[in-house]
Amino acid sequence: MNNPTIPGLNIPIRNIYCIGRNFVDHAKEMNAETPSSPIVFLKPTSSICFDSSTVFIPKQSNNVHHEGEIVLAIGASGKNITEESATDYISGIGVGIDFTARDLQAEAKKAGLPWSVAKGFDGFAPISEFKPLSHFGPDTIQVELSVNDQVRQSGNTDQMIFSFQKLISYLSTIFTLQPGDLIFTGTPAGVSAIESGDTVKASLPNHELSVSVTIQ
Ligand code: ZN
Repeated sequence: MNNPTIPGLNIPIRNIYCIGRNFVDHAKEMNAETPSSPIVFLKPTSSICFDSSTVFIPKQSNNVHHEGEIVLAIGASGKNITEESATDYISGIGVGIDFTARDLQAEAKKAGLPWSVAKGFDGFAPISEFKPLSHFGPDTIQVELSVNDQVRQSGNTDQMIFSFQKLISYLSTIFTLQPGDLIFTGTPAGVSAIESGDTVKASLPNHELSVSVTIQ
């Protein structure tokens, strides 16, 4: 099976990089320290799903949390990218949900083990359509997440510890970024557990981009 493509950009999805604790308020609610350099983890491409999907709570977890996040799509290959040129590598921006089995993540953290299982179940990475960078202009971007039409998370790029430019530059010192790579840029405060029957929607309210999934 081929990798799914990024809606709106029609590039096959390659690597899915994710950033932990990129908002001070979220680090606080997790009782975690504010990082001095980006915390990086990956999700498998099998965790991707799209608008109107059904996401199943895995039997291994009793505590799956939503994390609404702005997602960057990379459009060009680059290594050791400077912050000044970083936006040249963004082909589009969308919104996604970094579903997290918080109980499994807590166990992994305690044991010093990786987060791949807690973050990697099928359907744990819904993404919206993406729009090109030119659509967004120079203003900050607002991100929201609602459960059953009640807003639970609200954040803005001006609250991020590490900007898009810093994240791209930092990641490219480690990984050669490639067209089709996605970067989940971190979640604001307000994460909470989801239940069967919930409708979870992440959006960029000023840009008419959203992804909505039903939990089962
Ligand atoms: Zn996240």
